[in-house]
Amino acid sequence: EPKVGVLAVQGAFREHRRHLEALGARVNEVRLPGDLSGLSGLVMPGGESTSMARLLSDFGLWAPLRDFHARGGVLWGTCAGAILLARSVEGAPPQFGGHQDSLGLMDMNVRRNAFGRQVDSFSVPLTVQGLEAPFPALFIRAPVLTDLGPDVERLAQHDGQTVMARQGRMLASAFHPELTEDRRLHGLFLDLVSEYQPVKSP
Ligand code: GLN
Repeated sequence: EPKVGVLAVQGAFREHRRHLEALGARVNEVRLPGDLSGLSGLVMPGGESTSMARLLSDFGLWAPLRDFHARGGVLWGTCAGAILLARSVEGAPPQFGGHQDSLGLMDMNVRRNAFGRQVDSFSVPLTVQGLEAPFPALFIRAPVLTDLGPDVERLAQHDGQTVMARQGRMLASAFHPELTEDRRLHGLFLDLVSEYQPVKSP
């Protein structure tokens, strides 16, 4: 069984862990660079992306995460986690000069809180490429994925906006599969992890 991690600095990492373990995966919580060793995949949860970005700096995780991907690690970002994967981020709070750091690994822009205040959170049956039946997608102050590069494949759309995409061994979803009981997307992530094994040591 491949071992995977959940980025555990902030946000809904316990819920991801529970789903992955229910599917038989061995799961490490990742807070420090050393926690990545021996892992084949990593989930970055939903939460608050500005705080998460700050914590990644505090824990010295930016370069190790990029390196983990370069060595063959599979990454899945959900909501705030998807924001971290993007090449560029729109809608960062003004107190940060509207700028937000990100890993810049996925060739896409992310627009934060894109569905507006009136529709803070909602759930829709979402058609996702690769799943036979719609997925109950829970959106909470969700971002949308825009300006997808040529290597980025759109996997789901809501309201004309891209809400899930894949680029090689990276997945990004704007919604929260960890907060519903449907584990099919965690299954897809683990399939991707098995496909890309093994990850080289640093
Ligand atoms: N709006 C949050 C952010 O931009 C993300 C919301 C979430 O992860 N539920 O960080």
